[in-house]
Amino acid sequence: MDKKNVLTVKNLKKNYKKNNSQTVKAIENLNLEVKQGEIFGLLGPNGAGKSTFINILAGTVLKTSGQINVWGFDIDKNPRQVRASIGIVPQEVNLDPFFSPRKLLELQAGMYGVKKKDRITDTILKIVSLDNQSNSYARGLSGGMKRRLMIAKALVHQPPIVILDEPTAGVDVELRQQLWENVKLLNKNGVTIILTTHYLNEAEEMCDRIGILNKGKLVALDSTQNLLNKINIKKVRFKLSNNNSFDRITLKSLSILKSESNELVVSYDKNKLTMNEIIEFLTSKSINILDISTDDGDLEDVFISLTNN
Ligand code: ADP
Ligand code: MG
Repeated sequence: MDKKNVLTVKNLKKNYKKNNSQTVKAIENLNLEVKQGEIFGLLGPNGAGKSTFINILAGTVLKTSGQINVWGFDIDKNPRQVRASIGIVPQEVNLDPFFSPRKLLELQAGMYGVKKKDRITDTILKIVSLDNQSNSYARGLSGGMKRRLMIAKALVHQPPIVILDEPTAGVDVELRQQLWENVKLLNKNGVTIILTTHYLNEAEEMCDRIGILNKGKLVALDSTQNLLNKINIKKVRFKLSNNNSFDRITLKSLSILKSESNELVVSYDKNKLTMNEIIEFLTSKSINILDISTDDGDLEDVFISLTNN
């Protein structure tokens, strides 16, 4: 059975007016749908329009035109219900340094009109692993803890959709992993996740589906697996026993990435050449292969080819 859409975006446009009366087309005719329960990644280089899109959903930026439906509510007709349905984790950390995590969550819950008896402050603190810091000043928290507290703030009204704008930017590798574990846990509990990230390997690991935005236009929208399958370029590394330094190989789409005494790294188009042909070619040149390792292309390759021009 098809999952229902929790977000539908139709013909969305956003123009910013600059001081010199020039117009910046931040989003041009964006169309997309996000399904209940999925982790959807919006990727794109700096200035692509990702934050603009998220800020429109958050209600802090006004769209120029187009329709947006969140959790069954139209953003123009039912802005309050839309806001109640989503928890937004903005790109910048903005926390009052003199409040504790507990106090900040209580204040946020109050802002969303969550009654005292309906608050789940302790549960949220556990989810983001801040239960031990619940009464410390926010200013004393580490960078990673602050990020987690930002996520916590987005959860006080128990929204069915959580949207994170580059949650791991500037966060070190270990803490990033932790953060993603938190996000995965939320998703396991039924929360639909929409995120933007610069780190393609994270998107590859986290997202069920990915949209790639470039200069305000969607240049790809597919399941992560389908996007990866579209990559035709493969990389192979050969360990060789004899000294052979190639500077040129005349074999169809093969190109040399590295050629040293005992190592040869090449890339080839898997639609034009097979691994077998490459091995046969090397063997015909009396080259002794000791070991072969391959490297499937990753999202970075798709990304570069789609956003380069
Ligand atoms: P991203 O989050 O993908 O890096 P943004 O949505 O922040 O992209 O920016 C998209 C484009 O809109 C950029 O060209 C940016 O300079 C422009 N822009 C963003 N916010 C404003 C604003 N408040 N006023 C004018 N231009 C803006
Ligand atoms: Mg941004």
